[in-house]
Amino acid sequence: MNRACVILLNSALGPLDYRVPDGMQVEPGTIVLAPLGPRQLVGVVWDENRIASDPVEDHRLRPLLSAYDLPPLAAPLRRLIEWTADYYLAPPAAVLRMALASGNALDAARPTIEYSATGTPPERMTARRAAAIDRIGERQGSVRELASWGGVSVSIIRGLIGAGAIAPVEISPATRFPVPDPDHAPPSLEAAQGEAAALFAAAVEARAFAPFLLDGVTGSGKTEAYFEGVAAALRAGRQSLVLLPEIALTEPFLTRFAARFGAAPIVWHSAVRQSQRRRAWQAIANGEAAVVVGARSALFLPYPKLGLIVVDEAHEASFKQEEGVAYHARDVAVMRARFEDIPIILASATPAIESRQMAEIGVYREVRLPDRYGGAALPTIEAIDLRRDPPPRGRWLAPALAAAIADRLERGEQSLLFLNRRGYAPLTLCRKCGHRFQCPNCTAWMVEHRLTRRLACHHCGHVMPPPPSCPSCEETDMLVPVGPGVERIADEVAALFPDARTAIVTSDTIWSPAKAAEFVAAMDEGAIDIVIGTQLVTKGYHFPNLTLVGVVDADLGLSGGDLRAAERSFQQIMQVAGRAGRGEKKGHVYVQSHEPEAPVIAALVRGDAPGFYAAETEARRAAAMPPFGRLAAIIISSEDADEARKAANAIGRAAPKQDGMAVYGPAPAPLAMLRGRHRLRLLVHAARALDVQDVIREWLGALEWPRGVRVAVDVDPYSFL
Ligand SMILES: [Zn+2]
Ligand SMILES: [Zn+2]
Repeated sequence: MNRACVILLNSALGPLDYRVPDGMQVEPGTIVLAPLGPRQLVGVVWDENRIASDPVEDHRLRPLLSAYDLPPLAAPLRRLIEWTADYYLAPPAAVLRMALASGNALDAARPTIEYSATGTPPERMTARRAAAIDRIGERQGSVRELASWGGVSVSIIRGLIGAGAIAPVEISPATRFPVPDPDHAPPSLEAAQGEAAALFAAAVEARAFAPFLLDGVTGSGKTEAYFEGVAAALRAGRQSLVLLPEIALTEPFLTRFAARFGAAPIVWHSAVRQSQRRRAWQAIANGEAAVVVGARSALFLPYPKLGLIVVDEAHEASFKQEEGVAYHARDVAVMRARFEDIPIILASATPAIESRQMAEIGVYREVRLPDRYGGAALPTIEAIDLRRDPPPRGRWLAPALAAAIADRLERGEQSLLFLNRRGYAPLTLCRKCGHRFQCPNCTAWMVEHRLTRRLACHHCGHVMPPPPSCPSCEETDMLVPVGPGVERIADEVAALFPDARTAIVTSDTIWSPAKAAEFVAAMDEGAIDIVIGTQLVTKGYHFPNLTLVGVVDADLGLSGGDLRAAERSFQQIMQVAGRAGRGEKKGHVYVQSHEPEAPVIAALVRGDAPGFYAAETEARRAAAMPPFGRLAAIIISSEDADEARKAANAIGRAAPKQDGMAVYGPAPAPLAMLRGRHRLRLLVHAARALDVQDVIREWLGALEWPRGVRVAVDVDPYSFL
């Protein structure tokens, strides 16, 4: 009798055995539809000897319903799913779900309509129409996408369709994606870039696991160097995957990619439309997708012939997923490269201490690009001591910084002000009674957003209109904003420079790749003088006419005080500083701080990255913190405060006494309430050599807690909130 062990897309279930009906062919990796009670669930046939399913007698087995006509998930991906589930203490089904993207990616694709320019000019050509056609170029997409690429309204695109300059194209599911051409526009590389490129190409040809740390200063041309690895994979008929930390970075990446390879890669992130997603998933699974660029969720897709993985901006914390399976895409990407037996490139101007350490001990091969491309100089960094050179009362820009902006305006150059805080003010209070606006669901202040006229919680999304009077003392006109967000800085800039053209760049204004493209186009055209932005503007962008960067509050990132606070601040300021002076004009960076003698700021001003990293690394080593020791967080939450506390205490009491491991807490989490749930944390600190997952599995596996209590384990945590 033919049995199959199946992992269903239901995290609450373990693997189940099914009967394979006569005439159905399955093998490990086959995607199937299986009955469960009255329902039908998608699942994947697994290797029997690798997972334990509950033994069921043959005659009680239910038959599988059908097998999908799709390629089976290959063994390296199945090993990756097992490894990820094991390492991050997650149900295999939850990891498998990321590989299958969503049940309906599996359905037969339906035809869709897209639009592209026909090359026939409209009878009535206006400057706006011509510019739109020019900007759209050879791209193909929905009317809305064309409008955003062209920088015009939807009605102008509709007009161009009516005039025959843009025409609909039916995308049948059988339509192939354009294939990038490795010989389309080979770059001219500088010496160090050329060596790196040759190394990557050779590694792709060798088809063996080879991790590289591509450490190059901002503007050194890392992308061009790893593109040659992609070119080698294209020539060898293998797939490449490029992971980016922010979907806002996709658009500039696509432009550069198309310039090098003559066609766009396949894009994969949460904002990709459902119909495109299905086509993309199937093209990836059948090997047609030659190059995929995407967010961390692209990592688990079923590439059958992967030849290269690149993790760009590899130091970025956004590669860490905080919800669901709490995995780190950079680390899992290295494991995928290992299982697939292929090279992986971690690219960064400010590599994480974890990655540097791997290079230090010889596990990763370090490839350095020490100079900016085209002879551009690195910007000068200067601190402004806010104690000695403070801004006027109620303002945030010191006179020296304001003068530098005025100077750039005079010269027709662009400036960027960086403050990693969305909204107008982080806190609103009543001047009369001191009432502070707190989120009803979270231990967090409500942040005022003037652009959208509301107060918002940045943790749960709760919003409310700004109240006309104080809810506590009922006094009107007594509410005052405390502290600045980017919107408030924009107000100050408008007051100082009424004629300057400004743009606010945050996730509130740049919420899609198309919005990012609009912003990039406006910068390139010189339609913006001053950008005020959050971390969204710190990376990836290349604006040759941007010569001044002002860091409004360099102390902000240090106040969190977690393990990586100093490192993160250093990286963030280095990255934002790296936006300055990327063309022929030299850049200058002002860093405003109340404590310029702090090691982070002092190192930035001295340009002493090696010294900073050496000191940070030593501190971590001395405290046995990652990467020299291991951390895992256990977060206990419930809507009932008492229940959460009791469960946390019980888990704390049951903590195993284990050599090389200490357990701290339970203590209320800094975010003691989140989305209406009360939260407590335990922190496990263990020696590097200890299998901390095994210990936690056994520890928690022996305990029970009420239904309303959720216990989440975060292995290698990045957030300590
Ligand atoms: Zn009041
Ligand atoms: Zn909230």
